[in-house]
Amino acid sequence: MKSIHPRIAQALEQVSEERVAGIMKKLEGFGTRNLFSEPNHATRGKGAAYRWIESEFKSYSPRLEVRLERHMLKKSARVWRDVELVNVVAVLPGRVNPEREVLISAHYDSLNRIMKPRAANASPDDPSEEDYETTQSVDAPGVNDDGSGTAAVMELARVLSAYEWDNTLVFIAFDGEEYGLLGARLHVEAAKKAGRKIEAVLNNDIIGSDVTGTGRSANRLVNVYSNDPNDSKSRQLARYIRDVAQRYVPGMEVNTVFRADRFGRGGDHTPFDAAGFAAVRFTTPAEDLPKEHTGNDTFANASPGYTTRVARVNLAAAASLALAPGTPLVARTSTSGSLKGRTVPMLTRGKSSHDAVLKWLAPRDEADIAGYAVVMRSTTAPYWEREWYVGNVTEYTLKDMQIDDCVLGIKAIDKEGNESLVAAYAITQRDSGPVETIATPTPQK
Ligand SMILES: [Zn+2]
Repeated sequence: MKSIHPRIAQALEQVSEERVAGIMKKLEGFGTRNLFSEPNHATRGKGAAYRWIESEFKSYSPRLEVRLERHMLKKSARVWRDVELVNVVAVLPGRVNPEREVLISAHYDSLNRIMKPRAANASPDDPSEEDYETTQSVDAPGVNDDGSGTAAVMELARVLSAYEWDNTLVFIAFDGEEYGLLGARLHVEAAKKAGRKIEAVLNNDIIGSDVTGTGRSANRLVNVYSNDPNDSKSRQLARYIRDVAQRYVPGMEVNTVFRADRFGRGGDHTPFDAAGFAAVRFTTPAEDLPKEHTGNDTFANASPGYTTRVARVNLAAAASLALAPGTPLVARTSTSGSLKGRTVPMLTRGKSSHDAVLKWLAPRDEADIAGYAVVMRSTTAPYWEREWYVGNVTEYTLKDMQIDDCVLGIKAIDKEGNESLVAAYAITQRDSGPVETIATPTPQK
């Protein structure tokens, strides 16, 4: 396999560093994009910023369905006054399976730490007028965090909307990340209610620097964070991204980090992962922390060349997923026995007790499946080590293969060579409940 799709290769060439740099500079030019900043000014503050992002999305292609998601936030611990939150969303409907969605996201809001309540007697629950003034007047350029991610999302919307894709691509600039992932959380709540089929979330946050404060640099590497367990949907997505990047963007290396996010920190992918969607975070391994959340997170301190490279990795992954067949099903609901009602893997040792007998179900509504590949790795290996293309079947036996010390999975491959995400056979955790005992009578004396 490992085929190159000409449409993806062609789209990759359209990603422009000049445009990415232009967007980062433009976003800096709004002075601040803080959640609490001016919503109505023509050139400064969040209102000017989200209206510009909206109009850019609209200018890229008439096929992009652009909308603003508005929510009134109530005053709470971190939201120190009632404020309107505005996510900017652009949907490119899929030609074949519009219900299947791939999300590419970032947050456009920005923060400068000195915006925190400054008055000696002010608590976060009781901000002073001065705080309000601060969020209007203090610059929060936020070019790396997260103008860089927003620039990648916008450039991908421009490039990808020039082509047709099988599945739907959704480009999102979230608001309110800096005050508790608010825009993403509200989006996830609505997505769950609507029963949306979000198959992957590529979240970009801080992809604009390639040199740390100590001078350590990493400009051909991008960290991709995915939450445990080791065969979670998010982890399979991270493996998929690494594989696709090797194929399409050989000048960049994906450093998969098997951890939810940076140490003790979170991002807009977090609520998606928690809701059971496959979601990862792209971040530079060369974060310049002292500059983040300050007035120094500027274009002068950013590296648009690096952001452009990370955008290309995103494009390769998003476009591959937008052409990919659905993920096969490798588990079913048990109808009898001690696991009745539970989800159990369709993997057994077979009649011989020494084979690996794999069964799976074809992804729903998939017309052009060419066949399936079985993948395997040892339990301690990070990536799939072996692969067998087994043809258009839904059962396969690996003879004389112990299922106890390896992980097995299935992916679907369509007639053009597009590959689905891997579905891995996961062990059903048994919940045996307490051991029942019979009260013994106290011995007679
Ligand atoms: Zn951020």
